[in-house]
Amino acid sequence: PRWVYGFGNGSADGDAGMQALLGGKGANLAEMDRLGLPVPPGFTITTDVCHWYYRNGRSYPPGLIGQVRDSLARLEAATGRGFGDPLHPLLVSVRSGSRASMPGMLDTVLNLGLSDATVDGLAREAGDERFAWDSYRRFIQMYADVVLGVDHDAFEEELESYKDEAGYLLDTDLSASDLATLVDRFKEIVAEATDRPFPQDPGEQLWGAIGAVFGSWLNPRAVTYRRLHNIPDDWGTAVSVQAMVFGNMGTTSATGVAFTRNPSTGERALYGEFLINAQGEDVVSGLRTPQYLTRSGAAAAGSDAPSLEQLMPELFAEFRAICDRLERHYRDMQDVEFTIERGRLFMLQTRGGKRTAEAALRIAVEMADEGLILPDDAVARIEPASLDQLLHPTLDECAPRDVIAAGLPASPGAAAGRIAFTAEEAERLRSEGHDVILARTETSPEDIHGMHAAAGVLTTRGGMTSHAAVVARGMGKPCVAGVGSIRIDPKARTLKASGRVFGDGDTITIDGTTGQVMAGLVPMREPELSGAFATLMGWADEIRRMKVRANAETPSEARAARAFGADGIGLCRTEHMFFDDGRILPMREMILAETEEGRRAALAKLLPMQRRDFTELFEIMHGRPVTIRLLDPPFHEFLPQDPAEIDTVAATLGLEPERLAERLKALSEFNPMLGHRGCRLLISYPEVAEMQARAIFEAALIAGRSTGAPIIPEIMVPLVAARAELDFLKARIDAVAAAVMAETGRRFRYQVGTMIELPRACLMAREIAESAEFFSFGTNDLTQTTFGISRDDAGGFLQHYGQKGILKFDPFVTLDRGGVGELVETGVARGRMARPDIKLGICGEHGGDPDSIDFCEELGLDYVSCSPFRVPIARLSAAQATL
Ligand code: ADP
Ligand code: MG
Ligand code: MG
Repeated sequence: PRWVYGFGNGSADGDAGMQALLGGKGANLAEMDRLGLPVPPGFTITTDVCHWYYRNGRSYPPGLIGQVRDSLARLEAATGRGFGDPLHPLLVSVRSGSRASMPGMLDTVLNLGLSDATVDGLAREAGDERFAWDSYRRFIQMYADVVLGVDHDAFEEELESYKDEAGYLLDTDLSASDLATLVDRFKEIVAEATDRPFPQDPGEQLWGAIGAVFGSWLNPRAVTYRRLHNIPDDWGTAVSVQAMVFGNMGTTSATGVAFTRNPSTGERALYGEFLINAQGEDVVSGLRTPQYLTRSGAAAAGSDAPSLEQLMPELFAEFRAICDRLERHYRDMQDVEFTIERGRLFMLQTRGGKRTAEAALRIAVEMADEGLILPDDAVARIEPASLDQLLHPTLDECAPRDVIAAGLPASPGAAAGRIAFTAEEAERLRSEGHDVILARTETSPEDIHGMHAAAGVLTTRGGMTSHAAVVARGMGKPCVAGVGSIRIDPKARTLKASGRVFGDGDTITIDGTTGQVMAGLVPMREPELSGAFATLMGWADEIRRMKVRANAETPSEARAARAFGADGIGLCRTEHMFFDDGRILPMREMILAETEEGRRAALAKLLPMQRRDFTELFEIMHGRPVTIRLLDPPFHEFLPQDPAEIDTVAATLGLEPERLAERLKALSEFNPMLGHRGCRLLISYPEVAEMQARAIFEAALIAGRSTGAPIIPEIMVPLVAARAELDFLKARIDAVAAAVMAETGRRFRYQVGTMIELPRACLMAREIAESAEFFSFGTNDLTQTTFGISRDDAGGFLQHYGQKGILKFDPFVTLDRGGVGELVETGVARGRMARPDIKLGICGEHGGDPDSIDFCEELGLDYVSCSPFRVPIARLSAAQATL
């Protein structure tokens, strides 16, 4: 079998479609090569080798060594150099790359092939001894760290002490002979730490590096990253070996990274950073402050350092043309890495760029407008869950701000919280219920769990492409990076800014959109849903078949639902209306009444309140459908539980506390979730259903008149298991409707349907549908009753299920297709047998979950209903489900 694929000189064996085999990096290097772009030649060892490696006790498949030898020979021919050749040494980088990009997770080794034998050759060829010895020094350090596991601090310390001895301040003060001495010392460090001399044979170096890349697939950082991003462990990594080009050969050399559009805002403008006379990760390491690629980029950031556009205008033009070409070719914003070696440009990587949700929207919409992609593609590209980020608050512009520092606006949005100086502390404060701002000099992959726990991230070093910036953008968390004027001392646990000291318990606010850092908590404002967001949602609305309703009962929820574009209300939980101050009293009177007359008297007090509630809801929804569920929870939920409260409540109700306690005892149930609730309660006390039905009908008439929009209320009976339950209540509701019509002399339409939330209801759906005009699948209860798992108690053990791999997802978040889904499907099919045009919807939490929405589309449901703030996510998901 073929284990190795070459690239270079425009004749790559692979292409962009082979990401699974060659990894994203290898596949895209091949693709760029095919496009005729300047890519240093090399070859990629496939992910199949990685699989083989792990299945066979970390060894290599037969044939690999020969194939690598042949590829290396071709590389020597292509570059006119020899691996280990003292006169014209071939140096390579050994790079990892999986199908999904895993920034910073797997380590790259540069300058491989340098040795005592080749360093002079490099010096002669480059005409620069210092460069050659510096490269050798860096190589030993990197190789020792990545491949041999020697802590790189040992080298840094050696370097610092050497500089001290020599009285130097900067690395650039070191001469070639200084560096040669340092190389000797570095080799000693390696020999001491590993009991073996530093490998001088380039073949040994190469296989050491290849093994380290494959080995790094299972390093803890990589494993954590994959777990957080749901990347399967069995994808494996490929290894690309590529001829080195040098961005550190003096002032006509440089290295940099760029996005073809602005990854924070999506603006159509080349965006990136570079460093003159630098190599590899120098740009993103945060150790030197990079310069901007474009004039406008530098201006926007207030940077005085000249841009690449100014320094090397011709090269910049070439680079810009390549970026345009790549963007048109991939039809997406690209994240590229490049190096300039003595005035020659080389492309080292391209991939789809990570971006904020805001940028993703703007880029998708603008690319569709530019004709690069279709509106359908634009809709398909946006991750529905990412819309959440846009729905997050920004700082209130009018609120006073106590600005203490400013840095780079690395990831937009505002956040406030207590200062945490370490990732562990961030996690702890979060678990104690505090919002947290993680404040670090810079972040590394070890900080990822802390970044997850934090509401926002602040760093004092590093640029827009630093680790903190990239990871925060990916997580959709606000981040301000490179705040040079702040001093963070994690040992003393202080943050100093503007001559002030902040520490434990202090709150700060960051604004990742402007880069400001403020003392205290600055009030925030809800986001605007216009521009690209509105355009894209408009396209989604044209594409989607299913309606999206909201679960809403209060006027403010209903208004939010409308603002987010809900097509109606799919679930109005009426019980929530009884908890208000003015209502709980008559509600309790009703529950505690001994007789039907007593109950009716209390209900009469509740009627006008409910009528007002429903009128307002109908008015806000302006003729859009509203499904109102009759009272569902057991009575005891409305009564005081705490003994201290019992006395006061008894007093307000004019009851003896003993009587109240007795009644409470009578109402208490072993298993309330499966107890006297839903239609069972309404069958015991039909006067409750009658009051609610009357309030609904009267409100519909009032709102119909005030809005001029005819209202057809949908009354939903909860927890039905048998048709007879529904029939009993439907008869009462119909009787109330007839009475209201007679009293008012006005006819109106309405529908009576049921919530399908018990397994039996799914099975008996055909019979039930003979009476029900609509079904709404209440998948929260249906999941509870199907699994026999109480949702309120599940947190404790479902967590273990997740950790132990028993359940791969939380069935209360994502609909369990195999079990619960099967019941829903049965309910749908049987319901349609009795009533082919029965209206079908879903109103559990799953109504806002993209995967579950997909399933609803497959079943051909008429609508999904979810909480108001998830409505945009559901609209987009519903559109994607049809594509
Ligand atoms: P990562 O996946 O962490 O981005 P890369 O394999 O892209 O790792 O390597 C990191 C950096 O090393 C690149 O951005 C580039 O600057 C440098 N690099 C890699 N290969 C070469 C090469 N052949 N010549 C010069 N620089 C290289
Ligand atoms: Mg890296
Ligand atoms: Mg890279």
